[in-house]
Amino acid sequence: MEKYDLIVIGAGPGGYESALEAAKLGLKTAVVEERELGGTCLNRGCIPTKALLHSSEMYNEILHAQKLGITFDSASFDMQAMINRKNEVVQTLRNGIEGAFKRAKIDLYAGKGKITDANTVIVNDKVFSADHILIATGSTPFVPPIEGINSDGVMTSDELLDCTKKIESLTIIGGGVIGLEFAQIYNALGAEITIIEAMERVLPTLDREISQSIAMSFKKRNIKIVTGAMVEKIEQDGSLLTSHYRIADKTENVSSEKILVAIGRRANIAGLFDGDLIETERGQIKIDEHCRTNVKNIYAIGDCTYGTIQLAHYATAQGLNAVHIIAGKPVPHDLSLIPSCIYTSPEIACVGMTQDIAKLAGIETKTAKYLMGANGKTQIKTDERGFVRLVARANDGVLIGAQLFCCNATDMIGELSLAVAHGLTARQAASVVHPHPTFVEAVGEAAKML
Ligand SMILES: Cc1cc2nc3c(=O)[nH]c(=O)nc-3n(C[C@H](O)[C@H](O)[C@H](O)COP(=O)(O)OP(=O)(O)OC[C@H]3O[C@@H](n4cnc5c(N)ncnc54)[C@H](O)[C@@H]3O)c2cc1C
Repeated sequence: MEKYDLIVIGAGPGGYESALEAAKLGLKTAVVEERELGGTCLNRGCIPTKALLHSSEMYNEILHAQKLGITFDSASFDMQAMINRKNEVVQTLRNGIEGAFKRAKIDLYAGKGKITDANTVIVNDKVFSADHILIATGSTPFVPPIEGINSDGVMTSDELLDCTKKIESLTIIGGGVIGLEFAQIYNALGAEITIIEAMERVLPTLDREISQSIAMSFKKRNIKIVTGAMVEKIEQDGSLLTSHYRIADKTENVSSEKILVAIGRRANIAGLFDGDLIETERGQIKIDEHCRTNVKNIYAIGDCTYGTIQLAHYATAQGLNAVHIIAGKPVPHDLSLIPSCIYTSPEIACVGMTQDIAKLAGIETKTAKYLMGANGKTQIKTDERGFVRLVARANDGVLIGAQLFCCNATDMIGELSLAVAHGLTARQAASVVHPHPTFVEAVGEAAKML
């Protein structure tokens, strides 16, 4: 029987990065993957959505290029070609992981992994032994039991990412991150979009002002947003799908060609282990702060774990910490500070605390909000409104959070993550000379305001 120091189950951003790091740390490592290398993130998540966003934004910019002094006789798009390009990007990155595995001498087993005891994994009836096991099996879209949900044309993000047909109208059930990014893509391609969200606002877990700002920006672009509404039934009528939703005491409906269901994701743990070998909570694996399950040498990370933040870089950071613990080394990442990004237009990026959260934690704060209308690069690039807000502790000026709603926010958050992680004060952030003209100058300006 082949024996390993570590067997990783799942090759998403949590699993494959952990395996590479484990090999670097000298652990004899194997990976079990039942689908493609790269997991949800590379094949059905982060990368494909951003590739389609790039194509759709480019098309939209061309349509509005006249204000930049550029005219086109006509502009059109080919959905099949956009999907092909997205697939090429994905394939290139997948090849990169495969090559890295080979160079690191990681054994890759294709198939569904099953843990039968603390040290045994079975793949396609082959039995492997491991000193440690890392579960990184991720998640898949949750499909709620709504009448008519299985109708043709009702899709999850997995299917929509491969839909080569031009979509004229799309209803999105769920106004979270995934729902909003698809609204961004298909709005830019000219589809009529309705978002139906059960909570009182889209992005309900995010800063209220950001969620209101993106809702206003979407409305300006004719994206219809219905909040406080629950879809109860879907009916197919020829080529149209009608979503019937309850809002307050009334039932209303909206018809569209396709429906995207984006109301959450479910951990992939069905058939992963026997009986109650590994403790779970609400269908997800329970772990401690070191990503350890109830079984001493079995760790779990990423989307399949309970109470997780479903982000690729969180899964990776957890995994790197776990393999360092397994190798007896200090952990490299502080998991308490995880930046989050949303690739709408304008982009959204947050790190650390909002003023409201700080207040709940009993921290007195001062904040500064710099409006991007005064930023040169923003004026050049867009007519969207936006802001950079910094939150600092009132007593010593230490930066504890930032919320960005502007062009390039998803890149700008890096500098602020560094500042918050290392306890820099607003004065220190303001003392840095930023290049001009850039979007990131706004960070310096907001810090000066503080
Ligand atoms: C549309 C969309 C857009 C997203 N955009 C972003 C983004 O921009 N930024 C971001 O940070 N996050 C984004 N996410 C979330 C991100 O994709 C996930 O948080 C991340 O992929 C989780 O990584 P993971 O390693 O835990 O699991 P996954 O990436 O889900 O990988 C798990 C892997 O395990 C395999 N597996 C499962 N069970 C078994 C088994 N028993 N045996 C063998 N293999 C198994 C699966 O096939 C899969 O390949 C997005 C998600 C979606 C759906």
